[in-house]
Amino acid sequence: MENIIELNKDGSLQVPDKPVIPYIPGDGTGPDIWNAARLVLDAAVKKAYKDQKKIVFKEVLAGEDAFHKTGEWLPKKTLDQIQKYKVAIKGPLTTPVGHGMRSLNVAIRQELDLFACIRPVKYIKGVPSPCNDPEKIDMVIFRENTEDLYLGIEWEAGTKAAKDAVSFINRQTHKHLDENFTGIGIKPISEKNTKRLIRKAIQFAIDHKRKNVTIMHKGNIMKFTEGAFLKWGYEVGENEFKDAIITEHDLWDQFNGKIPEGKIVLKDRIADNMFQQVLLRPSEYDIIAAPNLNGDYISDLLAAMVGGLGLAPGANIGDTCAVFEATHGTAPKYAGLDKVNPGSVILSGAMMLDHLGWHKASDVIHRALQKAILNKKVTYDLARQIPDSTELKCSEFARELCASMD
Ligand code: NAP
Repeated sequence: MENIIELNKDGSLQVPDKPVIPYIPGDGTGPDIWNAARLVLDAAVKKAYKDQKKIVFKEVLAGEDAFHKTGEWLPKKTLDQIQKYKVAIKGPLTTPVGHGMRSLNVAIRQELDLFACIRPVKYIKGVPSPCNDPEKIDMVIFRENTEDLYLGIEWEAGTKAAKDAVSFINRQTHKHLDENFTGIGIKPISEKNTKRLIRKAIQFAIDHKRKNVTIMHKGNIMKFTEGAFLKWGYEVGENEFKDAIITEHDLWDQFNGKIPEGKIVLKDRIADNMFQQVLLRPSEYDIIAAPNLNGDYISDLLAAMVGGLGLAPGANIGDTCAVFEATHGTAPKYAGLDKVNPGSVILSGAMMLDHLGWHKASDVIHRALQKAILNKKVTYDLARQIPDSTELKCSEFARELCASMD
C-alpha cells in the first residue's frame, strides 16, 4: 500500500511517516537545482528523524521532458498525481515570450486551483544586500494565483476576436481604439478569489503572530479590478476578523497610532508607493497581499533585497493540494553547468517540510544554510558579492549543507 497524505475535514493534513511526494525536476537549470535540493531534503529528514521518517519522491512529467516522452507539455496524469498525493515540489519550467504556448507554471496553479502563492522573504545573516538595514526585512507575500492578467485572455492585434473586442469597447466607452492594430488583454479580478486570498493572508498573520497585513493595489487607476480587490480585502478584514484586526484608518482616528494590544493592523498601499516603502521602511511591512501581477513584480524586488533569486522560495497552496517551487525561472544560460544556487528550491523544500508538520527537519536546513553562508562557502551569485568567499558548484553547495547539518 502506498503511503498517501490524507486531508482532514478541517483542511489539515494526515501525514504518514513515509509519504509519497511527486516532483517535477523542471527545465533549464531545474534538474541541477532539484538534484541538489533532493540530497539536502533527504539528509535533513534523516538528521531530524533517523529512519523513522522519509519522503518517497516520485517523478511526474512536465515541460520539455514531458513533451519528448509523451508529446504533451503538461500531461493530465501529472495533475492527477499531484491531486492524489496532495503535496508536490517542482523546478522551474520554460515559457516562451510573446509567442508559443502559455506558461505551464501558471497552468499548474490554475488547473489545481492553488489560489495563494506564498513567498517568505527573510534576511539570512551574511548574505550581501543592497539595503542599509537588511536584518529588518521579514515579509511574506500572498500573491493571488488564479486570475488577473495571468488568466491568459488575450487577442492579437488584427485577429477577428481582437477586432470584435475593440469594436465592442468603442461602442461601450465612446473611445476610438484602432480596430485593426490594437491587441487586447483582459484583467478579471473576482470577489470570491480576492476574498479567499485575503482571508488566508490574515489567518496567516494571526497564526504567526505578525503585526500587519498590507493590501497592495493600483485601485486609483484600475477601479473595478484592483480597486475592487482593495474593497473586498477590507470587507474580509472588517466582517470576518473584527476581533483580530484594526484598520490603519481606525488606528489613527481612534488610538492616535498606538496599536491596541494583540491587534493586527490592516492597511493598504498603492502599488508604485509600495515598491519604495519596502525598500526604505522595510520594518513597517509584514504580510503583503497582492493581485497576481503586482505580487509577481514585488516578489523579485524583495528577493533582490535579501540576496537575489537564488535564495527565494515559494509555495502555491489551495484548499486540497500544494505545490512548492522557487520564485525564479529556468535561468537557461546556466543550464547543465552545475552552477546556480539551489537555495531557492532547498528553502521551498523547507517550507514543504513545515507544511507536513516536519518542523525539526526544516530547522535543520535553515541552520545548515546559515552556517554555510557565514563560512562564506556559497554559489557564484553570492560569491561575486562576498569578498574572500569560496565559490562552490550547485552540487558542492548541497553537499556542504549536508556536511554541516546538526
Ligand atoms: P530567471 O530564470 O529567473 O533568471 C533570471 C536571472 O536570475 C538569472 O540570469 C540569474 O541572474 C538569476 N537567477 C535565477 N535563478 C538563479 C539561481 N538559482 N541562482 C542564482 N541566480 C539565479 O528569469 P528569466 O531569464 O526571465 O526566465 C527564464 C525562463 O524561466 C522563462 O522561460 C520564464 O518564463 C521562466 N520562468 C519560470 C518560472 C517558474 O517556473 N515558476 C518563474 C519565472 C520564469 P544572473 O544572470 O545575474 O546570474
